[in-house]
Amino acid sequence: MDKPLLAASACLLGSPVRYNGDACEFRPLSRRWSEHLKLLPVCPEVGIGLGTPRPTIRLSKGPDGIRLIEPRSGNDLTDKMVAWAQRTSDDLAGLGVNGLVLKKDSPSCGVERVKVHPAKEGRPSRDGVGVFAMVFMALNPQIPVIEEGRLNDPNQAEHFLARVHFHHRWQVAGKEGWTAKRLMTFHHEHKIFLLARTADAKRALGRTIAAGFDAGLPAAEVALKYMIEAQEHLNVLPRRGRFAHAMERALGRMDLALSSPRREQVIESIHAYRKGHLPRMAPLLLLDHLAGTSGSIPSWLGHLSNPVPAATGVLARV
Ligand code: SF4
Repeated sequence: MDKPLLAASACLLGSPVRYNGDACEFRPLSRRWSEHLKLLPVCPEVGIGLGTPRPTIRLSKGPDGIRLIEPRSGNDLTDKMVAWAQRTSDDLAGLGVNGLVLKKDSPSCGVERVKVHPAKEGRPSRDGVGVFAMVFMALNPQIPVIEEGRLNDPNQAEHFLARVHFHHRWQVAGKEGWTAKRLMTFHHEHKIFLLARTADAKRALGRTIAAGFDAGLPAAEVALKYMIEAQEHLNVLPRRGRFAHAMERALGRMDLALSSPRREQVIESIHAYRKGHLPRMAPLLLLDHLAGTSGSIPSWLGHLSNPVPAATGVLARV
């Protein structure tokens, strides 16, 4: 299978495209994770023709709402940026991007808490969203988006990479065209993945599939609705208890005697993980080993760990 394709703010990947001619490389992404993901740089400000270095731009609140302004010249770049962002968002989705990592605090790329300046005087508020980020998220709610600052937290990094991988697997499953059977198989194979990360998604998504086909919608439309809703559910960081519960369910599906010492060992390891005494990798490795030796290797077991977070080493820290 191909590697997932991750688009990212070009400055995070080391391109010197910031207003001051610098980069702000996010090394885990550009160095370590790049072995396991295909990376695609994107810079909205260079995209609309601003040079490097360039005067700073910012979000400014005036009578016409929030605009993207170059304070030195007074130029309003909003319409230009929105048009570019619409084209580029469609292009990125068309290229099969599975996720997007954006630079925090930028009036173009920031996903949350970007400064919005009052038109005249006063302190900026911290409630804006960069123009490119806003357009991309509105047009592609099925693609996970995050700021690089959040990726410093191993739990958030693991969860984001798992969402990217989930999107990638969905894309591969529908490559030859979606059918009801393919979508139901995909959902069935990812039940443990969903169960480990959200309380209601497994059932709710099952209902979405049934309602879509009952209403006679085309399979591609139901599949897209499925991924949009799935990513909405996955937008919340899962807790240890959910993973522990999913691992117990996975163990329950294995063909093992109830009193087997190997089974006891896994249960102890899951309990230790639940209490925060062991990383998630510990019970997962034991489960993986058990699955390999019990003669009934379940394909869904891999979805508890997911190759990308595991390969990038992030999983070992959560
Ligand atoms: S527009 Fe985005 S990618 Fe370009 S320099 Fe600013 S933060 Fe980086």
